[in-house]
Amino acid sequence: MLARVRTAALWGLDAFPVDCEVDVGPGLPGFVMVGLPDATAREARERVWPALRNAGLAPPGRRVTVNLAPADRRKEGASADLALALGLLAATEQAPGERLGSAAAIGELALDGTLRGTRGTLSLAEAVWRAGATSLVCASDAAPEAALVQGLEVHAVRDLKEAVSWLRDGTLPRASPAEPDVPAEKAEDLAEVRGQAVARRALEIAAAGAHHVLLIGPPGCGKTMLAKRLPGLLPPLEPSEALVVTRLHSTSGLRAPGRGLMRVRPFRSPHHSVSRAGLVGGGNPPRPGELSLAHRGVLFLDELSQYQRQLLDALREPLENGEVAIARAGSHARFPARPLIVAAMNPCACGWLGHPKRGCKCGPAELARYAARISGPVLDRLDLQIEVTPLDSSELLSYAPGEPSATVLSRVLAAREIQRKRGWLNAQLPAPALREHCALDAASRQLVADAVDRGGMSARAVHRALRVARTIADLACEERVTVMRLAEALQYRAYEARRGSG
Ligand SMILES: [Zn+2]
Repeated sequence: MLARVRTAALWGLDAFPVDCEVDVGPGLPGFVMVGLPDATAREARERVWPALRNAGLAPPGRRVTVNLAPADRRKEGASADLALALGLLAATEQAPGERLGSAAAIGELALDGTLRGTRGTLSLAEAVWRAGATSLVCASDAAPEAALVQGLEVHAVRDLKEAVSWLRDGTLPRASPAEPDVPAEKAEDLAEVRGQAVARRALEIAAAGAHHVLLIGPPGCGKTMLAKRLPGLLPPLEPSEALVVTRLHSTSGLRAPGRGLMRVRPFRSPHHSVSRAGLVGGGNPPRPGELSLAHRGVLFLDELSQYQRQLLDALREPLENGEVAIARAGSHARFPARPLIVAAMNPCACGWLGHPKRGCKCGPAELARYAARISGPVLDRLDLQIEVTPLDSSELLSYAPGEPSATVLSRVLAAREIQRKRGWLNAQLPAPALREHCALDAASRQLVADAVDRGGMSARAVHRALRVARTIADLACEERVTVMRLAEALQYRAYEARRGSG
């Protein structure tokens, strides 16, 4: 007897539909599974047989052949366990198979027959829906996440027994979709930051136009404190963004199965010893890196100068394209990667260059070596290069709270609304739109020409400065980019200009 049950397997951020074909034939008891299962999937027999026995059902005493189709794609994990168990029951006529025609089954079986949700439930449920399944049986803990797929009728089962009674009589309530995440009551607020007018201004511009930030300053001057407040200046995720971000975090196993859509933008801060795969993504099967886990949120690169130069250079292409592409035998995995980057570094190796009280001990060679740790093209992409200075005594003793994040957010929202009408956030304005929306007057042209002649600014840096100037004008609700706005934008590239673009 042959039975076929629909299920799905993960591939990168996405999942693809899989047909679990079960054949129970004559011959000595045995088990063969084909169709490129990974080690976990191959061990299905060791989970499914005890699960059947413990649920009071009979494991087949004959030869079982399982094919996971399409046969040429690798199947990862244990999400096909339930499909295999139901297929065995249908093939041995212990349960009717009619309902399996339009339904799919997803879930990992425990030895006692309990069903467990798996990572990537949202992507798996989308895959079976796209493949034409109209209903899905899955673990109760994962069902609210699967039910986020509109139109798919999701039935939650606690264990194999419940799944079998559903096969027999078809009565199971429909699971409701999980509620979106509730934002934390108290996020980190800019009101807690004293002084630092320039850095605050930079964070506001960064949030408004999605421009990357570099904070340069001695240890203890508050760079981390500032960076952590950037997510609070960004609007909540829009529904379409939330779907992608939730899938990314669900397939990475960072969220327990069954949770609803993420609303709060992610904040990721990898250590500088992170591997290339950990930062950019990689592995087989491919997994997203921090760059993608921070998609639509904030990626905080603290101690930027401690990162390997090649590792930072590997960020350039994904940042340009907004995605990471990983090629693996015959198939590509793509992960979106549009985080807002805020990086922080000391001004020099000893940390005290430019400090009003403490002296820098670095020699000229050391200073040059330190500067060279970050390549020109990487520095180029950090549009707002801010030198953060330690507070002076009057600022330290002042108890006046800073402007709260909510007030800044309201200006950011207004500036983003102007950009929405143009169709792009300013950081992503394509060249033709940039020419249209950042037309320069004679004085501005002269300013750019001077910056190029004096500071050796690259064409890309000029364009990036123009985008920042557009954001500054948007924050002021100005239609045209004036020379004053452009001058402010260019001033945020002073560190690069001083260092040279080496
Ligand atoms: Zn120094």
